[in-house]
Amino acid sequence: MEQRARLVRMHDTDNVAVVATRSGLPAGERVDDGLVLREAVPQGHKVALRRIEAGEAVRRYGVAIGYAVSVIEAGSWVHEALLRMPEARALEHLPVATDLRSAAPLPGQSFLGYRNADGSFGTRNLFAITTTVQCVAGVVAQAAERIRRELLPRFPNVDGVVAIDHAYGCGVAIDAPDAQVPIRILRNLARNPNFGDEVMVVSLGCEKLQPERLLPPGSIALRDERDAQAAGATSGLHVLRLQDPAHGGFSGMLDAIVGAAEPHLRRLDARRRETTPLAGLVVGVQCGGSDALSGVTANPALGHAVDMLVRAGATVLFSEVTEVRDGVALLSSRARDAEVARRLVAELDWYDAYLRRGGADRSANTTPGNKAGGLSNIVEKAMGSIVKSGTLPIDFVLGPGEKLGAGQRGLGFAATPASDFVCGTLQAAAGMNVHVFTTGRGTPYGLAAVPVIKVSTRSELAEQWPDLIDLDAGPIARAERSIAEVGEQIFACIVEVASGKRRTWAERWNLHNALTLFNPAPIT
Ligand code: CA
Repeated sequence: MEQRARLVRMHDTDNVAVVATRSGLPAGERVDDGLVLREAVPQGHKVALRRIEAGEAVRRYGVAIGYAVSVIEAGSWVHEALLRMPEARALEHLPVATDLRSAAPLPGQSFLGYRNADGSFGTRNLFAITTTVQCVAGVVAQAAERIRRELLPRFPNVDGVVAIDHAYGCGVAIDAPDAQVPIRILRNLARNPNFGDEVMVVSLGCEKLQPERLLPPGSIALRDERDAQAAGATSGLHVLRLQDPAHGGFSGMLDAIVGAAEPHLRRLDARRRETTPLAGLVVGVQCGGSDALSGVTANPALGHAVDMLVRAGATVLFSEVTEVRDGVALLSSRARDAEVARRLVAELDWYDAYLRRGGADRSANTTPGNKAGGLSNIVEKAMGSIVKSGTLPIDFVLGPGEKLGAGQRGLGFAATPASDFVCGTLQAAAGMNVHVFTTGRGTPYGLAAVPVIKVSTRSELAEQWPDLIDLDAGPIARAERSIAEVGEQIFACIVEVASGKRRTWAERWNLHNALTLFNPAPIT
């Protein structure tokens, strides 16, 4: 990356650069090499570094982000209306495993985590109550509140209570092929490593998604079978059905849930953090509220941290299908082998068909805020988004809501929508135990199940929201810090947060979004 005074150019072949200056640059400003701005250009937006002919490619990150619809003079503001978007790259004849970089291991890194029976590690010690259907959500919310108030003070090592509620479970085409997506998301959410293998299921009774279908016997290892049976477990699962005649009215239901929570809390409370290699970390990365500095500051710095994590033995998940689709050739060349490339293409192909079915295309991804922030289209956004996956080979691919399998380690692509809360929910289902989220426009995003580290792309946002943004990548735009330096800061922050030594702003405010399932199947 080349830093020219107040303009940032990402690649030698680029014919545009991005204005990094906080207040933008005025018309008539001499920027460098005699280039004079023909008009005012806001921060994050692009300037033509030379005359670009009609039909010529406009290049950023070394790739064509669009084609000029008419001549663009040097020093002009290159905005969305001047660009025709390139066609989507076909999903065939892609380069496979042609860009496999190796990096020296980063040994000796560790964090403090909670060991689970299946070998995974929690970064938080949370009690989760999962649900089969939305009908029970109100009762479970009140029960969770009572557990927090009446029981948690007696179990100081338990970090909190998470109610996994959702809009699924009944009134849905539960046998439709795509119904496996929301069902496995729910199943795998309950098995997130931050919930310590403790599963309490609240069911209504008559719903389509029966508890045995949500969590088949054997899918969860109960730690103490006797405790579970005493609390009413059936078929190896601890299930409470609200329609059970044993529960008299609303207060009877609450008493039953609160009473059944105790053995779970007791077991969780007895756990202690232990020093563990970074192999126990599963870091999910995504961005939201992106601007043109996302791909200049925060995402490249996060990419540097991702390379460090993978070198240190951690697992990292990146996602957001619609934001990587236009960079598919970059990803297929980083696929570890032909099978990983095949899985990657299969997921993108499925998503293309899903969008077509809904009458949408990839241009639907960019938001008004993205465009105001200088991102002309999805191609430009994709290039800035992919850099946060670092540079190392892609070791595995997960479908929407799939959980990490044994042996799936290193860098993985977890196919999810780009929508922040849906992506975060699906990464949590995949087994994420720390989340890093970059933002340029700003969002107060958080998750109850997993700590979310928010990284701003520009310092103005960090100053405007000092009690929401955990780390500022803005100094990169002013050439005050390098991408590698901020990457190392992010890495250190991840280890601190994972170890419980630091709480994120979202955690301090108890700020979290609803878990949001991805349901591509019909609702009836
Ligand atoms: Ca997102």
